[in-house]
Amino acid sequence: MTACRGVFATQNVGASSSSFFQAPQVQSLRSARMASRPAVRGLRQVTKAEGKLSVSDLKKEDLEGKTVLVRADLNVPLDKEQNITDDTRIRAAIPTLKLLIENGAKIQLCSHLGRPKDGPEDKFRLGVVVPRLSELLGVTVKSVDDCVGDKVAEETDKLENGQVLVLENVRFYKEETKNDTVFAKNLAAKADLFVNDAFGTAHRAHASTEGVTRYLRPSVAGLLLQKELDYLDGAVSNPKRPFVAIVGGSKVSSKIDVIKTLLEKADKVIIVGGMVFTFDKSAGKGVGSSLVEEDKVDLAKSLVDEFGDKIMLPTDVVVASKFAEDAETKTVKSGDVPDGWMGLDIGPDSVKLIQDTLADAQTVLWNGPAGVFEMEAFSKGTFAIAKTLAEITEKGAITIVGGGDSVAAVEQAGLGDKISHISTGGGASLELIEGKTLPGVAALENQPVHA
Ligand code: ATP
Repeated sequence: MTACRGVFATQNVGASSSSFFQAPQVQSLRSARMASRPAVRGLRQVTKAEGKLSVSDLKKEDLEGKTVLVRADLNVPLDKEQNITDDTRIRAAIPTLKLLIENGAKIQLCSHLGRPKDGPEDKFRLGVVVPRLSELLGVTVKSVDDCVGDKVAEETDKLENGQVLVLENVRFYKEETKNDTVFAKNLAAKADLFVNDAFGTAHRAHASTEGVTRYLRPSVAGLLLQKELDYLDGAVSNPKRPFVAIVGGSKVSSKIDVIKTLLEKADKVIIVGGMVFTFDKSAGKGVGSSLVEEDKVDLAKSLVDEFGDKIMLPTDVVVASKFAEDAETKTVKSGDVPDGWMGLDIGPDSVKLIQDTLADAQTVLWNGPAGVFEMEAFSKGTFAIAKTLAEITEKGAITIVGGGDSVAAVEQAGLGDKISHISTGGGASLELIEGKTLPGVAALENQPVHA
């Protein structure tokens, strides 16, 4: 496993003689980037993950009149009538697109949408994002019903500076996920440079995330991707301490590598959610019918043996007579879950303990809910954590939330803008925290080294 830090440490100036690598070029749009970033609380304390060239490192003359292939993550959820039910991903792509538009680039915008099985399917056409994109950008966005070939070439030739052309779903070609060389070359055919802003797919070596970088120089990070790296890699690799991690969700097995990494790096790791009971069982405690992964009990025990005090487990739990909103519920001490009952949330004492632990934390990373928050009766622990994170952010702590469910809980609580950083990539953020190299990041140009 190569640590992502390693990627950043390898400064590869000699890789190209392109003018992008000369010091004066890198005076940059960095100020533009900072300006285009939302005012995020605690940002000033983040250790920036230096290493990869970002679109904000480029100057106007690097972009004006140039055709830029942008890989964004426009994989928005749609209802049966093809309405976008959550436009977060479109909104997240806007800062990079605005920066490129303002600097006179001609933009080819590509993405995947859904999981088409074998070729084009109407319900996965990317044209569906065009009206909302146009609205948010304040310009008329064009689209074409292919992502490679003559039609794309024709429409690209018609682009004027500052115009955007949405290409068709790259996953209509099976070559995309196979990272096929010819397909990647065709995708890159009309572009001069590449901007990867799709953090959610950066852990996959696909043609539109990794393959095209072989044909386009420079290939740089978009503002969203850079922000994810700044927070997740920067803050986790070199956190302001105390650094507290909260890991929850259903299963130990899905997050074991993350837990191990965080136990090495954080000052405290608070375990919540369903995975608590595998730990409790490993300590010989009564867990009733709570979720337990029998094959992970030994592993949980070995982690507690090795990291002891660093691991914090709930002291009380809300138990239910059945897995249902209308179940009978009560709060019991951890280990006292009666037979036939299951733990579905952390209890009030545990919430208090977590709040006390977070009170002086300077960096907090949270992934996975504290209970079955989808049911109101078992949502208190999760929402209390969300609220506490918002409060400590206000006081200057850096707070980072990742994982689809914990992010949903924060948004549901209306606290999204009170957290320093909400990660847009589930799998990618976990792999980055684990210290894995993300192919879509590794393939990007390194920052030049200044003498
Ligand atoms: P995602 O995997 O979507 O990125 P996440 O990382 O935030 O989300 P998961 O590990 O997937 O979280 O776990 C979330 C699920 O865990 C929720 O559906 C929640 O109901 C469930 N969960 C939380 N606590 C318990 C519990 N005590 N018993 C059973 N299920 C639980």
